[in-house]
Amino acid sequence: MKASDIHVIYGSQNIARMAYELMDAMDIAAVLQKDARIALKPNFAVSKPADSGATTHPEVAEGILQYLTERGFRNISIMEGSWAGADTQTSFRVCGYEALAKRYGVPLHDLKKDAFVERQAGGLTLKVCRKPLLETDFLINLPVLKAHCQTNLTCALKNLKGCIPDSEKRRFHSLGLMKPIACLSKILRPQLTIVDAICGDLTFEEGGHPVPMDRLIGGVDPVLVDSYGAELLGFSIDEIGYLPLAEKLGVGSTDIAKAAIHEHHAEEKQQTIFRASNVARELASHVVADAACSVCYGSLIHALQRLRENGKRLPETVYIGQGFRGKTCEGIGIGNCTAGFTAHLKGCPPTAKAMADFLAGK
Ligand code: SF4
Repeated sequence: MKASDIHVIYGSQNIARMAYELMDAMDIAAVLQKDARIALKPNFAVSKPADSGATTHPEVAEGILQYLTERGFRNISIMEGSWAGADTQTSFRVCGYEALAKRYGVPLHDLKKDAFVERQAGGLTLKVCRKPLLETDFLINLPVLKAHCQTNLTCALKNLKGCIPDSEKRRFHSLGLMKPIACLSKILRPQLTIVDAICGDLTFEEGGHPVPMDRLIGGVDPVLVDSYGAELLGFSIDEIGYLPLAEKLGVGSTDIAKAAIHEHHAEEKQQTIFRASNVARELASHVVADAACSVCYGSLIHALQRLRENGKRLPETVYIGQGFRGKTCEGIGIGNCTAGFTAHLKGCPPTAKAMADFLAGK
């Protein structure tokens, strides 16, 4: 399979079969050594089932496991680290991976418990978990195609954030997210990406507003796969800040015009045009964020949505993020980082419910 190839398979009834057929169409077994250490890296930043639009369907991993085990590959594991503040073990269970791993006899690795090593790329030194970096020969990235209120898109490159320690996840935000995401993809470039675009959430990364897109997308160039996903949601490449940066670092190409798109079961293709919702972006216009962690920022967007649903007035401006640490300011702040604000909600991170209750009184 060439780097410029993108394979798309359409359907929704038998997702495991779709994943199997996609692996077969790409002839992945042909590039794998029999004793290769293969790791599947799904996305379950949050503990919600896949039909919420937040996490990778376990059926995608199942189809890949069927394909690999039928061909005699035995050294396979599944690894993930939920976002800072969430519990990966709970996600393994809630998202259906505990049962899947038992059925196939493959180990589950919680990357929050993994050791890390330091590597440099693009002028940054990053901490990266050992297992995906040093104990894996063939990393299969299984992101969900979703909208994201800070980066517009979350897909292949951003899913790699599950392979760094929690402290590093927070630091990524203090570094502005785009550059460290691009640099991480240089250090930990997956050998294969299969995107779950069955029903990703096109409003919030955390799910709750799934949009049926009924397809899986496969490719070996993660930048090209992300560029294809971005276009599918109506974004230009420049609107996804980390993609041009990753291209400059030599991770892959954003040039979709030069890609060879191979469609399978195209008769099941919807003609719908997908658009990322602007709900989260509109709510975000009430937020001044400086290096806010995903979990904190995402919860605040949800809290603002709850206020709106309950007919409450939204505060004009709410401040959030590590950039406000140690600063004394007039205004409403969320989280321990804004302890110097005239009104602030404690917590690191506070829950969305606590935020909604706090803001309702402002
Ligand atoms: S308060 Fe929020 S933004 Fe600050 S470190 Fe904690 S989670 Fe991150």
